[in-house]
Amino acid sequence: MQGMYDLHVHTTASDGTFAPRQLVEYAKERGLAGIGITDHDTTDGIEEAIVTGHKLGIEIIPGVEINTEFEGKEVHVLGYYFDRNADSLQTLFATLRSERTRRMERILAKLTSLDIEIRADEVLQEAGAGAIGRPHVARVLIRKGIARDMREAFDRFLGRDGAAYVERYKLHPADAIRQILQAGGVPILAHPGLVGKDALIEEMIPAGLMGIEVAHPDHPPALRESYAYLANRLHLIATGGSDFHGSGAEHRGDLGSVTVDQSVIRQLKEKSGVF
Ligand code: AMP
Ligand code: FE
Ligand code: FE
Ligand code: ZN
Repeated sequence: MQGMYDLHVHTTASDGTFAPRQLVEYAKERGLAGIGITDHDTTDGIEEAIVTGHKLGIEIIPGVEINTEFEGKEVHVLGYYFDRNADSLQTLFATLRSERTRRMERILAKLTSLDIEIRADEVLQEAGAGAIGRPHVARVLIRKGIARDMREAFDRFLGRDGAAYVERYKLHPADAIRQILQAGGVPILAHPGLVGKDALIEEMIPAGLMGIEVAHPDHPPALRESYAYLANRLHLIATGGSDFHGSGAEHRGDLGSVTVDQSVIRQLKEKSGVF
């Protein structure tokens, strides 16, 4: 995998199970040239990744994944090469993280009404210092034998049709895009195949969308081809990554299972106002 980059990766700073240092070591083992750190609503994992990356010769592409909502659909916006010290962006992340904690508490209340007792401190312990997400609740459910695996935890309880589903904080994708742009970053629509509304891609271009994640484990080959074609037609950057969440997250690919080459990194840097 010489010269290849995996641009969509989660660490313990959000819902991944690998600490940033471990992740970079694993990237080295997998023969990657670099990885994009795209934790949910936080940049806390990036510094440690950069330090380890320097030591091991792995390039770290700083990023984030912001979960938004549009017409009842979950829309994830990736941002790359923004200014991590931008106040407006960090304020947004802080709001989103505290809303994550509130959502978790509401999920636990719903579980209680189903006679499933999970304490907030158990989930907080699972999340460590990371931004809390549904996978942390899922891991507690699995540990307690209430769900067999992630899939069952989401199908029965945490997913949109689950019995303990709670709506997320409403942020419009265009607002996430604008915030990333304001901080000098490059906004990319994550895994459009999971959104299920391709018209959104063109609709977000006036807001400043600069690319789409063409290659993702949940995009079958034919879909990647059609998104690659669309990206080309709309002059959007075509990115890709494995959405690696570490061990126990079998629903996504292994680190480096989806990659892009150096030309994508160059395009992202060119579009960035910071780099
Ligand atoms: P949250 O950020 O709390 O809304 O949780 C979303 C995260 O849950 C995603 O980033 C995935 O890591 C994970 N996830 C979402 N759907 C599923 C699923 N069906 N099975 C396993 N994990 C999922
Ligand atoms: Fe996640
Ligand atoms: Fe995502
Ligand atoms: Zn992701």
